Amino acid sequence: MTDNARKILVTGAGGFIGHHLTTYLKRQGYWVRGVDIKMPEYGTTEADEFLLLDLRRWENTLTACAGMHEVYNLAANMGGIGFIERFKALIMHDNVLINIHMLEAARLQGVQRYLYTSSACIYPGYLQQSADVQPLKEEDAYPADPEDGYGWEKLFSERQCRHYYEEYGLDTRVVRFHNIFGPLGTYDGGREKSPAAICRKISLAADGDDIEVWGDGEQTRSYCYIDDCVEGIYRLMQSDFRDPLNLGQDRLISVNELVDMVAAAAGKRIGKRYDLSAPQGVRGRNSDNTRLRAVLGWEPEVSLEDGLARTYRWIEGQLRERDTSPVGRLHVERQPLPAAS
Ligand code: NAD
Repeated sequence: MTDNARKILVTGAGGFIGHHLTTYLKRQGYWVRGVDIKMPEYGTTEADEFLLLDLRRWENTLTACAGMHEVYNLAANMGGIGFIERFKALIMHDNVLINIHMLEAARLQGVQRYLYTSSACIYPGYLQQSADVQPLKEEDAYPADPEDGYGWEKLFSERQCRHYYEEYGLDTRVVRFHNIFGPLGTYDGGREKSPAAICRKISLAADGDDIEVWGDGEQTRSYCYIDDCVEGIYRLMQSDFRDPLNLGQDRLISVNELVDMVAAAAGKRIGKRYDLSAPQGVRGRNSDNTRLRAVLGWEPEVSLEDGLARTYRWIEGQLRERDTSPVGRLHVERQPLPAAS
């Protein structure tokens, strides 16, 4: 079968990673169905077909999976640390429903391969208490102590993927993302993550201004550019590897350093004002890429400086456009999804 004849479902295709992934798969020659509860906010989709479906509902997951050879399941109700710490019940409710229904629908509709997008939030809190953290290996996930809400759901759904393989032979892949960032991602409204939020704040600041930083800025993370993310996802889907796999950069930096890098990309002198009462997540988190390199024969390549410069330019352009366009001024912030009945 030619690539063109293989039919791929991307859920969450209206979101940040799903939108980029759809473009990537189209360029590989696949036929792509995108599904989401919303169209992409920035730019138009390249999907052959785009269905607006609420995947918390069972019958919609059957519709989404019908006729598909492969599924990349990215749909999730999620956001940055402020959002996931505030809406735990909503996030677990929505994402459990999406993932439980999607796996069963994929099985019943005869899907051949299924990717689940998990997160570094599944790693135990007790291994992430120091800024100078040891990089996290896949086997560090247990004994479990994940982020209390979003992280527990991800760990639960990872296990359900394994059980679907063991009991039904559904060929599953599980990827654990570590802070993916880049253009076309949410940068305001409460769901944005730290790189996008910092780019927005610096874009809106004048040379010499201070920006607000959550916590003392000494918390550490690694950040992975979106082009590497979609490349890694695709490579994992082509591999025979069924256990969870980290996908991220392994360059650990503090949030203070991240701010300095974005300021350098912007060509502005920026000071920091710390909000110690704001949510910060774990103290330190980094990806151990030993298994990623062994399994995929590859690892993320785009430098943080490059990725941040591209992201900053895109967010700055968005804000400038919004400022000058009458439609832009009416921009409506996205609300949490209403509960499914
Ligand atoms: P995103 O919020 O931009 O995309 C998720 C999409 O899912 C959104 O477009 C949203 O509308 C859609 N969605 C939510 N509820 C839905 C429903 N009921 N039915 C149909 N669609 C629904 O997030 P993203 O950054 O693109 O993340 C994609 C996946 O990767 C998610 O599963 C997320 O948990 C995971 N992930 C992302 C990161 C990251 O750094 N971006 C890190 C770890 C894990």
